[in-house]
Amino acid sequence: MSQNQALFERAQRSIPGGVNSPVRAFRAVGGTPRFIKRGEGAYIIDAEGKRYIDYIGSWGPMILGHGHPAVLEAVQKAALDGFSFGAPTEREIELAEEIIKLVPSIEQVRLVSSGTEATMSAIRLARGATGRSKFIKFEGCYHGHTDALLVKAGSGLATFGHPTSAGVPAEVAQHTLVLEYNNVAQLEEAFALHGKELACVIIEPIAGNMNFVRAAVPFVKRLRELCSEHGALLVFDEVMTGFRVGLASAQGHYAKLLPGFKPDVSVFGKVIGGGMPLAAFGASREIMKQLAPLGPVYQAGTLSGNPVATACGLATLREIQKPGFYEALGARTRQLVDGLAAVAMDNGVPFSVDCEGGMFGFFLMPELPQNYQTVMKTDGARFNAFFHGMLDGGVYLAPALYEAGFVSAAHSEADIQATLQAARTALR
Ligand code: PMP
Repeated sequence: MSQNQALFERAQRSIPGGVNSPVRAFRAVGGTPRFIKRGEGAYIIDAEGKRYIDYIGSWGPMILGHGHPAVLEAVQKAALDGFSFGAPTEREIELAEEIIKLVPSIEQVRLVSSGTEATMSAIRLARGATGRSKFIKFEGCYHGHTDALLVKAGSGLATFGHPTSAGVPAEVAQHTLVLEYNNVAQLEEAFALHGKELACVIIEPIAGNMNFVRAAVPFVKRLRELCSEHGALLVFDEVMTGFRVGLASAQGHYAKLLPGFKPDVSVFGKVIGGGMPLAAFGASREIMKQLAPLGPVYQAGTLSGNPVATACGLATLREIQKPGFYEALGARTRQLVDGLAAVAMDNGVPFSVDCEGGMFGFFLMPELPQNYQTVMKTDGARFNAFFHGMLDGGVYLAPALYEAGFVSAAHSEADIQATLQAARTALR
């Protein structure tokens, strides 16, 4: 039995399914999850000493690769000063100031420890600020595992959602309206029916939880207009896209295409923590003053703004602001996806790709999908075969066809070439 198999069997005795987050278990693709011992730049090394080119990067945070020297130094220094105090620290201000400086829609920010916590708090803030209960989310977008967000579509626009998880009472889901991503007509109809009851609309502006699907510009434009007209807040969940698709995040990307565009509330995670448990939500001062201790919306956390996590996040944010960082990252990512598309074409495999900054998606279908239903038409067996072919070839892709991929600043030209070589073998 291999080391990975032995660890997986042992893990399953003490941990449900052997993992602490479901997608790690390789359920969708089959086979044995790799137990990772160490990361090094663009690589992760498993229990058997096998090295993989890492295109997950801890599902987004590791934009500088593993063990970046400046980040490592900041974390080591912070740890020597103490792990957690439950009292304010200067570094929290510095991180908040850094986020505010980079994201024009945000005047104030609250730090928390996970994306789930941040989106949950953003929804509560929107409800508190508007005095309304209902909100819209889109099919295929994931916003963490908060009860009210684990909801699938009801049977029509007049009916609200059903829980997607056992343990979520139907009553909790009844305020969540689930609509199709990129469907303007449906959005208009929903606002016509429920506009005055909606606290907010939450969206992944570039959805990374159904592989990689962009919100179309006319869709975002209409979404912004409808929210403003009806007094509902527009919440951009940038846990994945934040500082990943560009220094100005996805909202900066849309602001270039729709001058003046801003969401009302933004949620960040992953990159802002650089691999440590850290996330944030922010908005205008007017909205943020609703939060305790200033206002009536309660929110708190023992480890919020943790000194070691903020040191890690700050060091990461400083590195990504160096001149040319996103140009190089974007070019490397583009080289990867264009290379994959060319290999697929040589092998007669239907394939489409998209990327922005250091985030990418590829589909085993000829055209890029616009919504979840289309993404899920992917040939699963073919994807799984490709995934395992790549894994055998030393390339670690997301173990599910509905996940985005991530390139880091540590990925070299040689890593991309090695990846394309593995793809040639796998696609054959
Ligand atoms: N929102 C988005 C867009 C995410 O991708 C994720 C996690 N992948 C979350 C929220 C939840 O974040 P976390 O896993 O840190 O709770």
